[in-house]
Amino acid sequence: MPGETLTKTITQHTGELDQETLSFLYGIAEDYAKVRNAVYQRYSGIRHVNQLTPVYGILNEMRSCGLREQLNLPVVYYELAVADAVSDIKTRWAVLKKKLNGLVTENESLSADEKMYIRTVLKINSTFSAILNREPYELPDNAKDLRLDTDRLNNRIRRMVRKYLTEPKTEYTRLFRVSPNGYRYKDGGIYLVSRIPRHRVFIPLKNHERYDRQILFMLEENSATLHIPVEARIKTHEDYTNTVFMHIGNRVMFTLADGTVYGEGLEQMVFPETLRLDKKNQEHGRLRREAENYRAEGLDDKAEAIERNNLGRQKYSSRKARERANTVRYINTEINRMLREEKPARIVIPSRVLKKCTKHYSRTVNLKLTRSFQGFIRERLAFKCRLNSVEIVEVNSKGTGSLCADCGTEGKCWKDEFVCEHCGSHTTAALNAAKNVEKKYKEMCHPD
Ligand SMILES: [Zn+2]
Repeated sequence: MPGETLTKTITQHTGELDQETLSFLYGIAEDYAKVRNAVYQRYSGIRHVNQLTPVYGILNEMRSCGLREQLNLPVVYYELAVADAVSDIKTRWAVLKKKLNGLVTENESLSADEKMYIRTVLKINSTFSAILNREPYELPDNAKDLRLDTDRLNNRIRRMVRKYLTEPKTEYTRLFRVSPNGYRYKDGGIYLVSRIPRHRVFIPLKNHERYDRQILFMLEENSATLHIPVEARIKTHEDYTNTVFMHIGNRVMFTLADGTVYGEGLEQMVFPETLRLDKKNQEHGRLRREAENYRAEGLDDKAEAIERNNLGRQKYSSRKARERANTVRYINTEINRMLREEKPARIVIPSRVLKKCTKHYSRTVNLKLTRSFQGFIRERLAFKCRLNSVEIVEVNSKGTGSLCADCGTEGKCWKDEFVCEHCGSHTTAALNAAKNVEKKYKEMCHPD
């Protein structure tokens, strides 16, 4: 719709930074993590579950607790670290509640009324908090008429929370956010508030756009990337009129029903990196065990030497972040190219198949699952479609991978190939799937 906006993230890159500037940035990032961890430690427990919104209460307490002065961390960083941590804690609670909801649904020993009671409690945060903290509370309206042993159910809720609640902690010390009054664009770069009053640290930038929002700094080995949320106007394209049917893959990003492909290079980008990370992880595991062995034998200095020299995660995560940034850039570029060339009014895709990790997967399958960009691609696609007023339609993915798009019988998949012994069709699995998407969509619109 015209006039509407969406928040999107713009990045800016610094030039190569000198040692002094880098150590300033790293220092801020380390303190930022310390503040987050302090907030986690104080406020992630059950005592505060109902005091997280609005954030001002916690912010006020954190303002006067002395930590900021002790770290000598300027307010423009400190307060955002607090806010970030509180929002992390809230996310944790939301995830936990979702998990408990799922457990309750699956639990066959609970009656329908009991399930309803627990679900209602999970929904009303004040009641939830009172139950966890054994404080008096009003029964939710729709639970008043139920004949329930609420003591037993409340115990159950408390037990589940105890079992699944974990305290968040961050060891990632390479990022921080700064509020708008903490920086000033000037001289082809950005001046950041430092720990010394009235003194600012200059960071040269490669491009010279200026923004006035909170900026997220992600630090690399000798440079940094700035992430800035900006409002983008939603566009409408008169000439976008096509309907596109496509399969979304891990090797080739998009395969269209007419055979066109986008993002053919995805696998080549992701796979070597996956192998590298796997090898790295194995090596780390071996060294960790070696260090543990030394420790068990009482050879602490040898153990410490290994940990000091070899188990540093900084370099490892920095390369990983860089590779990831390249892949992300590639995915975005290919989505843009697809939209530009296909000019779709509507894109039809199969619904996402979520693998449930109940079975024990083999090592390589696990590897593939962890490095799959499927979710990210879908998210970016959805975002860019909203931004360009393109409609996304999902069809049920059931059978799109296994049935022959030409004759509808069960075919055979061999690596990326699809073979139908019934009609002799032989094509790529992705193309067969895309054609099935088209078929399903047309059946959905014209069921006769
Ligand atoms: Zn067939």
